[in-house]
Amino acid sequence: MIARVIVDVPTRATDRPFDYSIPAEMEGWVEIGSRVGVPFGGRVLQGFVIGIAPFADIDVKRLKPIAELLDHIPPLSPDLVELAQWISEKYCCPWTTALQVMIPAALKGKADSVVTLSEEALEDEAGLLLEDAEPWFQYIRQHGEVRLALLQERFPGAAAGIKAAIQRGTLLEEVSIRDRLKVRKVLTVFPPENEAAVLAELAASSSRAAKQQEAARYMLENPEPISLAALAQALSTTTGTIRGAAEKGWLSIRETEQRRDPYAGRGFKRTEPLPLTEGQQAVYDEIAETLDNEASRVFLLHGVTGSGKTEVYLQAIARCLEDERQAIVLVPEIALTPQMVERFKGRFGDAVAVMHSRLSNGERYDEWRKIREGRAEVVVGARSAVFAPFKRVGLIIIDEEHESSYKQEESPKYHARDVAVQRAKQHHAIVILGSATPSLESFAAASASRSQQESQAGASSSAKRGATLLPMPERVAGRPLPKVHLIDMRDELKGGNRSMFSRQLHEALLLRLERGEQSVLLLNRRGYSTFVMCRSCGYTAQCPHCDISLTYHQKSKVLRCHYCGHSEQAPEKCPSCESEHIRFFGTGTQRVEEELAKLFPGIRVIRMDVDTTTEKGSHEKWLTMFGDRQADVLLGTQMVAKGLDFPYVTLVGVIAADTSLHLPDFRAAEKTFQLLTQVAGRAGRHELPGEVIVQTYNPEHYAITSAQHHDYSAFVQEELKHRRFMAYPPFCRLILVTLSHEQLALLISEGEKLASTLRDLARAAGIKSSDDGDGSRFIDILGPVASPIPRMKDRYRFQCMIKYRGNVGAADLLKQAISLLSGSNGQPPVTMSVDVDPQVIL
Ligand code: ADP
Ligand code: ZN
Ligand code: ZN
Repeated sequence: MIARVIVDVPTRATDRPFDYSIPAEMEGWVEIGSRVGVPFGGRVLQGFVIGIAPFADIDVKRLKPIAELLDHIPPLSPDLVELAQWISEKYCCPWTTALQVMIPAALKGKADSVVTLSEEALEDEAGLLLEDAEPWFQYIRQHGEVRLALLQERFPGAAAGIKAAIQRGTLLEEVSIRDRLKVRKVLTVFPPENEAAVLAELAASSSRAAKQQEAARYMLENPEPISLAALAQALSTTTGTIRGAAEKGWLSIRETEQRRDPYAGRGFKRTEPLPLTEGQQAVYDEIAETLDNEASRVFLLHGVTGSGKTEVYLQAIARCLEDERQAIVLVPEIALTPQMVERFKGRFGDAVAVMHSRLSNGERYDEWRKIREGRAEVVVGARSAVFAPFKRVGLIIIDEEHESSYKQEESPKYHARDVAVQRAKQHHAIVILGSATPSLESFAAASASRSQQESQAGASSSAKRGATLLPMPERVAGRPLPKVHLIDMRDELKGGNRSMFSRQLHEALLLRLERGEQSVLLLNRRGYSTFVMCRSCGYTAQCPHCDISLTYHQKSKVLRCHYCGHSEQAPEKCPSCESEHIRFFGTGTQRVEEELAKLFPGIRVIRMDVDTTTEKGSHEKWLTMFGDRQADVLLGTQMVAKGLDFPYVTLVGVIAADTSLHLPDFRAAEKTFQLLTQVAGRAGRHELPGEVIVQTYNPEHYAITSAQHHDYSAFVQEELKHRRFMAYPPFCRLILVTLSHEQLALLISEGEKLASTLRDLARAAGIKSSDDGDGSRFIDILGPVASPIPRMKDRYRFQCMIKYRGNVGAADLLKQAISLLSGSNGQPPVTMSVDVDPQVIL
């Protein structure tokens, strides 16, 4: 047999399968999705097997054999390999880049697997198990723990049997990636061996060492081993006290290896399904019916904030699990707070795996294995959890589907929403896109399919390709949406108020302080930044390698470039005019915090922004503190707008609503509307009614007035008019090509060549080059023009934008054009980076 291998060299020239022969001793072990080492250009490279075929007419002798098998259980399944191919085609990225993004970082080196007998097999003395007759099984029985590599060597031909035994759970596979991951050892408390004696001793003991006695009693009542730190915390005592109890023999402390479960010992409170409201029930019924039919379909759950979307998700997941299918829940990275995780762990307990970027590599790898080995049935995670290695996916939920963090900004530049739809097709699964403010793309897809369904009764199969709209326009229990007041900041200035707080917001904050209620303050960070400016001559500090302002870090008094990492000491005098009037503008939130302290002496503020949340776990810490009402105000950037649910928050203030409104990005209005609606939704979610105060300089702008009236459809109507007029998505699609090189002249000429080659190819294919406004297909090539950041890391940057509609094969044309411009090494002379469906135009 031969294996077709994608080698891990992300260039266009190597972006195709290479054939290798499978040596006899690997026969049966090598599968689609296996990671292998193969000889390539004099080296051994890592690669993935993406196909296996019989020799047929290939000359056997010319093929090199696979050099080594890197893991004995393939990390990818055939459906994921296929999905990777789809990603590489859709997003114009090398196949290997798409394959690599699917596996945890910890799995990049060689994994050494061992197998042991499961408990069931150990107890099977009568030899009733299927495998008992097998010599390899007896070998494991004799040796206890055996490396898979050794089994492969000793028992060629046993691959299928061994893998099946692992699948059945008769054998347990342990992967040790020893050099990469340190096993975590923790001190764990166990109950005493001799319970009766300790009980008697405790009874006889005086009130002396009361805390130690408490620890001992706790362990007798809760014999589950618990980490020393967790026990100390649970009993509000020190670890020293517990060690003291151990010295008396009242309990025992031993070092144990810890499975890295980031949420272990958290003790999530179990929740039962709530009786659904009428609105939830209607939506749930439709989802449940489709789940039962195992049809692949996309739902757009458009539910206002507080409409109870999460309960619908939970019950849909339960339905999916009943059918022994698994569920993937994607939430924006920033919203992956313990609050969110708790809702899923509370309902499904240990069956939930959690994946986000703040986990260590080891923790992530353990969660991934939990999924692959079937110990988890639900994953809650950020973007990349869409690749969770479940065998039968029934449901993929994307909460806050409009969030731009679902788009990965480095290669592969995939959008988790589109990947989810594709993966759902493979598994006959359904996708639920949930949002109070759906992206215009998703909303348009849903409306298109609805009008199509209306026009062709009986819903043809083509109509099913779009999304089905499921509206939930009301909050649970008839709670009103909060009242939103707009404050025109121009009037404030006219009235002599130069503070960043309007009089109304000031008063509203005072009132909350008096009543002991909480407030959330949002500073729309985009547009604000931390920079250095000379007040005399207007000098701003720029990165010497990138055309971008340096950012001032107050703590270290250092200026840093966010793109290349260049850093320098903050100057004391203006380097340009020597004036002393050089000012460092701290983050917007820092300034607001200072102002709050001045205006409201004694106010307790938690500030959440990039500066205060870099440490692992800090995000959680702040939110827990706020939830425990240890602060009056939660002040922050976009971070505070997402998914938080605190019962005592009755005021939401938006300090500057429109800083994001005038950014040169066609989604500026949409982003502003979404942000305002989301943050307004944080108020009054429980019994206490909520109030929202939005300060703005553009009180007539439709993005702001629609948010004020919670009127999504008014916003969409107006926004769609603009998009249609300007021919922007959803009326067309975009591909952004960024070219970069050290030499400006070469860059410009290559940019011109790319644009003209694309235009020639489109003309040859008979595709119109401009939009007639009649909805027909076209492809328009804009540029090249200098990128919004024209130089980065000493490289100049130019861009071309491809605008197209309909099935014009834009990605293929682009690939052709790039290969026409490529030299003998298979690469174009300047770097070309492709972003399909870009989210960030800036
Ligand atoms: P959304 O995600 O749509 O903003 P949530 O799912 O957070 O809304 O629900 C808002 C609140 O309503 C939560 O506190 C939730 O516990 C509560 N809730 C949801 N469904 C029900 C129900 N059927 N009965 C009672 N309370 C509910
Ligand atoms: Zn100056
Ligand atoms: Zn720089």
